[in-house]
Amino acid sequence: MMKRWSRLAWIGVAAILAGCAGPTQNTLFQTSTIDALLVGVYDGDMSLRELQRNGDFGIGTFDHLDGEMVLLDGRFYQVRADGRVYSPDLDMETPFASVCRFQPDRRLALPGVLDMAGVVAWLDRELPRHNMFQAIRIEGHFKQMRTRSVPMQSRPYPPLKEVAETQPVFERDNISGTIVGFRCPPFVAGVNVPGYHLHFISQDRSFGGHILDFEVLTGLVRVAELDRFVMRLPLTDDFATADLSRDRQEELAGVEKQRP
Ligand SMILES: [Zn+2]
Repeated sequence: MMKRWSRLAWIGVAAILAGCAGPTQNTLFQTSTIDALLVGVYDGDMSLRELQRNGDFGIGTFDHLDGEMVLLDGRFYQVRADGRVYSPDLDMETPFASVCRFQPDRRLALPGVLDMAGVVAWLDRELPRHNMFQAIRIEGHFKQMRTRSVPMQSRPYPPLKEVAETQPVFERDNISGTIVGFRCPPFVAGVNVPGYHLHFISQDRSFGGHILDFEVLTGLVRVAELDRFVMRLPLTDDFATADLSRDRQEELAGVEKQRP
């Protein structure tokens, strides 16, 4: 009898472990959609604690659009509009984030000194499987790194395009750190960012943000191909009733990149 019970208990433990490891493997998990963020759905409704169950690596933003999120090796960093990096409480909520469990299947050495466009072009050649999700991690030394953050918003929320017009931009020379991000396939338009979306956190954890441009001197690139995509939608009325019927790719390009 004892034996039978203990065997049953072990089956239970194994099932729980399988349940934990299984669903997040090779999976890009995201909450909300990028277009919802573009139209101003900034109220968080998923805690960082809950988000962490779906990954240890990723990017996003915080409740009320209060800065840029970097999730690296299971730790969250919040780069706020004052340019400083904070350790957010795990009870804090996010309105939009993409995460995965980072298990790299490729390592690449950067071929030389490159700017962001150069790295993107090189990665596109190295990673021709453009219909798969690629999680990208670059540990490097940078001659220059330019980032931005977004300031906390209050209701009525302006669209992200308006917020981005006043975004603070930060620049550091001669800095080491990690690029954290994803290359998403073209068919995610409206849902996530097609192409590259990269954030940065410095080695000393004092500088970071959404990357606008950089020049990398040396670096190691690690890539994890993800073949599963899991999405959960915010339960808020803001999300449920937002107008997400239009194509907003042009708006997105304006928000993600540098102002001319
Ligand atoms: Zn970003």
